[in-house]
Amino acid sequence: MFQLTDTSTILQQVQQAGVKQIRFLYCDTAGIIRGKICGSKALAGRMESGIGLMRAAQALNGLDQLQNIEGLGPVGEVRLVPDPRTFRLLPYAPHSAAMLCDLLELDGTPWENCPRTFLRQQLERAQSEVGLTFLTAFEPEWTLARRGPDGSYTAIDDSLGYSTLGMTTPAAVIDEIVTALEAQNLPIELYHPELGHGQQELTISAATALQAADNQLFYRETIRTVAWNQGLIASFAPKPFTTQAGNGCHVHLSAWAGDRGDINLFYDAQDRYQLSQLGYYFIGGILHHLPALVALTCPTVNSYRRLKPQSWASSYVCCGPDNREAAVRIVSPLQNRESATLNLEIRAVDNTSNPYLALGGIIVAGLDGVLHKRHPGEDLLLLTDPASLSEEERTRRGIRRLPDSLEAALNLLEKDEVLMKALGPTLAQTYLTVKRSEVAAFAAQGLSFEIDQHFYKY
Ligand code: GLU
Ligand code: MG
Repeated sequence: MFQLTDTSTILQQVQQAGVKQIRFLYCDTAGIIRGKICGSKALAGRMESGIGLMRAAQALNGLDQLQNIEGLGPVGEVRLVPDPRTFRLLPYAPHSAAMLCDLLELDGTPWENCPRTFLRQQLERAQSEVGLTFLTAFEPEWTLARRGPDGSYTAIDDSLGYSTLGMTTPAAVIDEIVTALEAQNLPIELYHPELGHGQQELTISAATALQAADNQLFYRETIRTVAWNQGLIASFAPKPFTTQAGNGCHVHLSAWAGDRGDINLFYDAQDRYQLSQLGYYFIGGILHHLPALVALTCPTVNSYRRLKPQSWASSYVCCGPDNREAAVRIVSPLQNRESATLNLEIRAVDNTSNPYLALGGIIVAGLDGVLHKRHPGEDLLLLTDPASLSEEERTRRGIRRLPDSLEAALNLLEKDEVLMKALGPTLAQTYLTVKRSEVAAFAAQGLSFEIDQHFYKY
């Protein structure tokens, strides 16, 4: 959660806590969290001017291979300018604090390749065109493992999903994670051992959309580092072990309005699933664009090992009430808190996504559904596993299979005029080039290279 913080209170906190290093962080085109560090004496000046960053930084792919993109060569700088509201002491790193940054041009205007700016622009559009703000929660799953001397990974346990044994093995690390998250004002909502070996699901409370995306970055940082400090590896790879359940990062979303922003516009007590017409339109938009949208929400080569039928990851373009094989689940609201808790769960999302691009893309697609009244209709509303229907039945209903590779998804993204227009030509070109370079790099290698390169990076 943001605290209202200005430069002088930040400087005070830095001094009081004996902070020596302040991380200026951003999430890059490839979904990697990167940054630079500023010393405490330099902070006052750098809060305003930012830190210089080569423009080429946004042309790096997930293997640090620099792509040849116009304007992102060896010449030219942008500025990493921190958002003071994201300031926090880092409970897991000595004498350290961090802030999340926007990527700005030298004159202080937003850079077209800044993912955080992209999300903010989509949120402004949603507000000005339809009067919506979003309550959002990312729901990350991840795997705890040990790295052997030969570099191979082994899950920390083979406990059963939801089992108390699965709570025993990682208890010490989970305790430290919960403490570290709470110290950053990220209260945990729920936790359980998930189905895969070593797999965990731990969620923090929902927040407004930009905060939720910011929180997802601090969340990934915290989980990874606390585990590391205890000699463990936390993997956010979509499919770290090919024989185990994949790691999703479902996105929960509801749309709010009213003078105090306290009316859930997705809620309608009269509907059979308590979803409003606006909610159905929003789903319709997501489903309409989903085969292209997954290029942003499931953006790595490894993502497509997870998006397989009958693995609860979603692989078909459909929705359904509490349907965990549907790409969009209409989440049943909690009793007596119906209007506050009714929400949509987008399941075709994973932790390798840049949360600003993923959430921004989801909002673009949903808004398009609202503006064009794209009701999913009965055909896309499923009370069963779409894989259990015959091929003919799926075709009749218009239930499409999601792309089965990053390459196919990127080709669909390139053809999706709504998403491409929202990204703008510069960011779209950068994204397609960087991601296509990952497709090519992994195509030249085998499975073990893929697993290795996704296991501990996101
Ligand atoms: N692990 C599943 C996925 O890849 C989700 C399981 C669940 O429903 O929580 O999305
Ligand atoms: Mg789960």
